[in-house]
Amino acid sequence: MEFWKNCWNCGHDTPQERVALEFFPRIVEMFSKKEDGKVNQRVWAVFYDSYSFTKCKKCSAPSLFVDEYWTQTTSPEEAKCIAEEVKINGVSKSGNLVHSHIYPGFLKEPFPQWTHDLEETYMVLFWEVYQAAALGLNSLAMMGIRAIIDKFALDKIGDIGGFAKKLNTLLNAKIINADQHALLEVVVDAGNASAHRGYKPDNNHVKICLQIIEQLIGIEKFGDVINEIRQATPKRT
Ligand SMILES: [Zn+2]
Repeated sequence: MEFWKNCWNCGHDTPQERVALEFFPRIVEMFSKKEDGKVNQRVWAVFYDSYSFTKCKKCSAPSLFVDEYWTQTTSPEEAKCIAEEVKINGVSKSGNLVHSHIYPGFLKEPFPQWTHDLEETYMVLFWEVYQAAALGLNSLAMMGIRAIIDKFALDKIGDIGGFAKKLNTLLNAKIINADQHALLEVVVDAGNASAHRGYKPDNNHVKICLQIIEQLIGIEKFGDVINEIRQATPKRT
């Protein structure tokens, strides 16, 4: 049978040919939390997972799609119903689909070329932020973004205290301008909230904050090229 799913190699939804289909039930422990953060109550549920091994009809790349269905009952009829629907449609409409996983989880976009030229600490931080964002680990991505700003401040003005003081000193030293200062205040606060206040930023917020620091750090690497252009430009007579 054929159904449309995201192909990691094509980078968009493509028709997929199913090569194999397996189902496997799994017992999952879940819990609710009290106000003080401690576990309130534990419950066990049965997840009925489908494993579809497919081949992209456009590029032939193989993929494994794992869909987790949370069953309301432990009756074999419910599992059978999910299995029948998945066999026919690729997904179960009556089943309670909780998570979908796609393997392999290769990044759709490689790390940007300009990051290869960065000092290693920056490069590793950027790459880990890109990976965290691609995996939907947005709080971690935001904390990484804050760490990049922290490193930038440390390199420029040394370890002088909290973020507010660092950003003000960067502004007063004309290393960043007023617009950048205003943007970085928002980004740092989002990073602080992710680290200390349980904030879970959405994908778009991480993307925007990432763009802001890409501009901040990316502009540095123009230094050498700008000097080359200055040298090469004929002087006014
Ligand atoms: Zn493909």
